[in-house]
Amino acid sequence: MSKTDDQPILPGEQLASIEEFEGGKNTYIAADGMVRSAAVGNKVYDFKRRTVKIEQKNSPMLPKVGDIVVGFIDMLFSSMISVKILYINNKKSTSGYSAIASIRLGGGRDRRDRPVFRAGDIVRGRVVSLLNSTVHLTVAEKEFGVLYALCFQCGGDTVRINDSIKCIECGAYEPRKLTNDYGKETIRLIHRSGK
Ligand SMILES: [Zn+2]
Repeated sequence: MSKTDDQPILPGEQLASIEEFEGGKNTYIAADGMVRSAAVGNKVYDFKRRTVKIEQKNSPMLPKVGDIVVGFIDMLFSSMISVKILYINNKKSTSGYSAIASIRLGGGRDRRDRPVFRAGDIVRGRVVSLLNSTVHLTVAEKEFGVLYALCFQCGGDTVRINDSIKCIECGAYEPRKLTNDYGKETIRLIHRSGK
């Protein structure tokens, strides 16, 4: 008996501990005693033989370099955001892939980075690399960045004011790295349908 999971597995993802399952095809044993994936694909557990393997797939939904992706920030780090991909080139993506983007936006000035992103923000970026099977985005150009965000205090609707967003409910005001078309109606539709 074996079980297949729909969620694509990325290289390095933990599959099982070596006490639980033996690593099969496209896996390796990491130094921490975990069986991890060595490929992009689906994990398949064989409960009878107690093995786990990765069945590679052609990943038709994996974005390519140059693709424009839209998604929401699911994790926020000091110099990086993780973006759960919802759209690739305006087509809905159900691949479940996440992408990462550097949020050190440069400029060369020695100033502290302002909090220009928050978890939950809808962002648009361009794929610049697929190094190590990770989707890397840039959000630095003017058409990239935050497409739409809800108020960080009350969850209300927001409008753009220069390089910040302002809540129309409670008036809270916060800087963002905004796209040049922030808050257009289509984006609100995306946001609501994505909920
Ligand atoms: Zn508010």
